[in-house]
Amino acid sequence: MNNRLRLAIQKSGRLSDDTIDLLSACGINISRPDRKLRALSEHFNLELLFLRDDDIPGYVADGVADAGIVGENVIFEKNKPVETLERLGFAKCRLSIALPKATPYASVADLNNLHIATSYPGLLGRFFEKNGVQASIHEISGSVEIAPGIGLADGICDIVSSGSTLISNGLREVEVVVQSEAVLIASETLTIEKRSRLEKLRFRMQSVLKARQHRYILMNVPTKSLPEVIRILPGMKSPTVMPLATEGWSSVHSVIPENTFWDVIEQLKGIGAEGMLVVPIEKMVL
Ligand code: ATP
Ligand code: ZN
Repeated sequence: MNNRLRLAIQKSGRLSDDTIDLLSACGINISRPDRKLRALSEHFNLELLFLRDDDIPGYVADGVADAGIVGENVIFEKNKPVETLERLGFAKCRLSIALPKATPYASVADLNNLHIATSYPGLLGRFFEKNGVQASIHEISGSVEIAPGIGLADGICDIVSSGSTLISNGLREVEVVVQSEAVLIASETLTIEKRSRLEKLRFRMQSVLKARQHRYILMNVPTKSLPEVIRILPGMKSPTVMPLATEGWSSVHSVIPENTFWDVIEQLKGIGAEGMLVVPIEKMVL
């Protein structure tokens, strides 16, 4: 039996580059010279299927692909039985309802009787149901944001990241239907062998994602300040401390989460740390 893992990824679009980068950071390089719809990876026993993102949940649910990388928005929309294994930290966006700036809006009740254009009828329909809204859904496949301007709908429900597309179309975001990012999904019917290969891939991804969320920091501190430095550093374990050739000074190395980074740096500076170097980490295996 063939134990090669089949992973479905987006053929071309907003997920493609980050997906290929993540796989490459996991040691999986893909050669796809003639842009075929299938490719084998040289370094991991993996076959890649290049698909439209909309088709990925269905392929994985049916077991045609063993796993896939796709936005949660598409998974929720398709509502297929797949298992979400890992949030991947890219393609972060939200699906929101937006109305023309001049339309008054105070609460979801103001959506009653409106016509909303969207490519996400499933998600929007469930949102209306949950909130007791009676509105009609106009399904369109692209350029949703122009629908109100051309009189096709009263409002839209579409993917938003910065919101600048909405603003340039005279729209304002009034409700967030769902938050989304790219995730690794798996078929619910994997053999034990495939499940174990997928766990290996997931482990590599976790090491890369953890590394992306942390920085390695090196600095010189007055030796007398060491207890305070150690208290400030949110280390995995205690930091590495080495004496400097200059009497009374030590070199401290540690790993800090990116989200606390500037706070920690400021505090360290405040107690006399000098010569700080901050370096990206390639992998973190815990
Ligand atoms: P396909 O041709 O594969 O059907 P598509 O046009 O439906 O592609 P893309 O625009 O490539 O989809 O978006 C793919 C996914 O990227 C979306 O489903 C969403 O999860 C995410 N995404 C979309 N727009 C943004 C954005 N502006 N910022 C961040 N992520 C986004
Ligand atoms: Zn799509």
